[in-house]
Amino acid sequence: MRESELDVEDVPQAAATGEVPETARIDDLLAAAHDRARVHTEGTVADYIPILAEADPEAFGVCVADVDGGLHEVGQTRRTFSIQSISKAFVYALVCGQLGHQEVFDTVGVNNTGLPFNSVIAVELNDGHPMNPMVNAGAIATTALVPGATATERWEFIRAGLSRFAGRDLTIDDEVYRSEMATNGRNTAIAELLASYGRIRSDPDEAVDIYTRQCAVSIDARDLAVMGATLADGGVNPVTGVRVVSATVCRDTLAVLAASGLYERSGEWLFEIGLPGKSGVSGGLVTVAPGKVGIGAYAPRLDSAGNSVRGQIATAYLSRALGLNIFASAPHTNQENPG
Ligand code: GLU
Repeated sequence: MRESELDVEDVPQAAATGEVPETARIDDLLAAAHDRARVHTEGTVADYIPILAEADPEAFGVCVADVDGGLHEVGQTRRTFSIQSISKAFVYALVCGQLGHQEVFDTVGVNNTGLPFNSVIAVELNDGHPMNPMVNAGAIATTALVPGATATERWEFIRAGLSRFAGRDLTIDDEVYRSEMATNGRNTAIAELLASYGRIRSDPDEAVDIYTRQCAVSIDARDLAVMGATLADGGVNPVTGVRVVSATVCRDTLAVLAASGLYERSGEWLFEIGLPGKSGVSGGLVTVAPGKVGIGAYAPRLDSAGNSVRGQIATAYLSRALGLNIFASAPHTNQENPG
């Protein structure tokens, strides 16, 4: 989305100084971000997975979790939805933690394909290399790398890992899982294609099944904020104090999100918001300001690439007003903000 569509042309960009404002100021700015985004009704709710079409288009919540463990919430932050594609970011981090920087780089890749999330042609164009762990081919290949002796153990590795990121026990929404399994032709085709190139390590049907389960995990905007804050905090969940992944894994994961987190709009997002983020087709959006905060948003109306419209608008406002954009500096000899 462009600056004008994001509704932030009049919001001065505060420099990323290394400090976030005090709690009361965050609460005020969060309320302003919510008010600003709520009036936007552009976009449509995803319906290619039948159950997603039942989402309330007006549902909208935003939560900011800071690295001290503080939570700031506005709107429907406890409304649950399926995590969908956002799981890709956190499963990628968990798998990086097991296999290490180089192996995940070589096996899955770190580049944006520039093609839609469920593209088959992207696999063909790259000799079967998935390239991008934030689209379905790369995510299925990543899930196929999960350690464990059985499918049950491999699934539990993911479920338990996502739960540590959120700081609470997460479970699957069975209705979502069944609805997606019944309409999963493209993902099955992608997994078979990857297998035909020798690019997938486990049985392709099992990889699709586990990938579909991870997408059906039920979360809310507050969970997303805490998960994001864990990536912002060098891998330690700031609410529970539990280390989930290493600081190196956070760094690597955030670099991948910066390149590919918002589908084929990732460049636009980085240009306007200046932060790593990941969106999903159910309307969730997680954004990470390293060393500062995680932002979780839920609003199911999507732009044509599959990104939450209200989520992007609210996050764009917060990025400017809270001084989160990692590219925004001010001369160190002059403390004035450039505006
Ligand atoms: N489970 C969805 C799919 O595989 C996730 C898509 C998304 O959120 O990008 O189609």
